[in-house]
Amino acid sequence: MRRDLIQKNIDLKQFTTFKIGGKAEYYSAPKDIEEVKYSLNFAKDKGLEVIIIGGGSNLLISDDGVEGAVIHTAALNKSKIDGAILTVESGLTVKSLNDLALSRSLSGLEFSGGLPGSIGGACYMNARSYNGEFADVVKEATVVDEFGTASVVDKTFLNYSYKYSALMDLNYFIYDVKLELKKGDPSVIKEIYLKNFNDRKSKGQFDYPSAGCVFKNNYQIGVSSGKIIEEAGLKGRVVGGAKVSEKHANFLINNGDAKAADVMKLIKFIEDEVLEKKGVKLERELRIIGFE
Ligand SMILES: Cc1cc2nc3c(=O)[nH]c(=O)nc-3n(C[C@H](O)[C@H](O)[C@H](O)COP(=O)(O)OP(=O)(O)OC[C@H]3O[C@@H](n4cnc5c(N)ncnc54)[C@H](O)[C@@H]3O)c2cc1C
Repeated sequence: MRRDLIQKNIDLKQFTTFKIGGKAEYYSAPKDIEEVKYSLNFAKDKGLEVIIIGGGSNLLISDDGVEGAVIHTAALNKSKIDGAILTVESGLTVKSLNDLALSRSLSGLEFSGGLPGSIGGACYMNARSYNGEFADVVKEATVVDEFGTASVVDKTFLNYSYKYSALMDLNYFIYDVKLELKKGDPSVIKEIYLKNFNDRKSKGQFDYPSAGCVFKNNYQIGVSSGKIIEEAGLKGRVVGGAKVSEKHANFLINNGDAKAADVMKLIKFIEDEVLEKKGVKLERELRIIGFE
């Protein structure tokens, strides 16, 4: 195994779209499944907690950093194509996946135009947008358990529902994901990607560092969480360098020098205010690491 696979004290801020976070006690960015297994075995042998980072677009990492072994998927980005079936390693960005599908005139991923992050994170979170979700296209995934044993899990196992997959209840590392697409018209596919990307842009989603929506929507209420937060009068609310976006109240933004502690305080404040003023208990979508 290469000697520099496991590193120490690596700054994690650079790997998150929030641009916030402390250091990892141990860090590795495996390049293949053997390096994934080695990283997991290293953590197991040392009794360390494993924290997996994909595109870092749904993460808030504590300013004090992470005790344990961070495994970052950024160097896992190979892909295979067999007709309309794409098998991609988990670190491939959704943007690269979209480009790959378009280059083969494959349709099915248009809903994810402009979605930040990696395919691993999207498969884990069942990321969704514009009337589509990853559950629509994921066929199976190769996962590696904490002992370094790989297996293939199918869609039934993944048990997808709104912003949920069974992987969220397990300590599996997603190594690769198999997606089933269908042949389409490349000019139409491209047009939808662009439309969705431009819609996000026009809503200011890329204006400031953020992690997208912090809270899930509760479809039983019938009003989006963003709207509920807005109605509670919290748009523009500031704690330190963290702010409730003026454009979309479910987005918390890093105004430049936000600490994770600022974001956390703002999240708790929003939760308390919304419960008191609107009687709604918000459920977090953001994955929070390193806080009690
Ligand atoms: C501007 C902006 C817009 C966004 N819009 C949307 C949207 O429209 N819809 C939506 O659903 N989300 C949205 N998000 C949130 C985010 O992009 C998605 O949740 C994305 O799918 C997360 O992927 P990631 O690779 O960044 O995961 P990360 O943030 O790195 O991780 C998220 C979770 O997945 C786990 N994970 C990641 N990779 C693996 C792996 N290989 N194996 C096991 N576990 C893994 C992590 O441990 C963590 O618990 C947005 C974010 C931003 C910044």
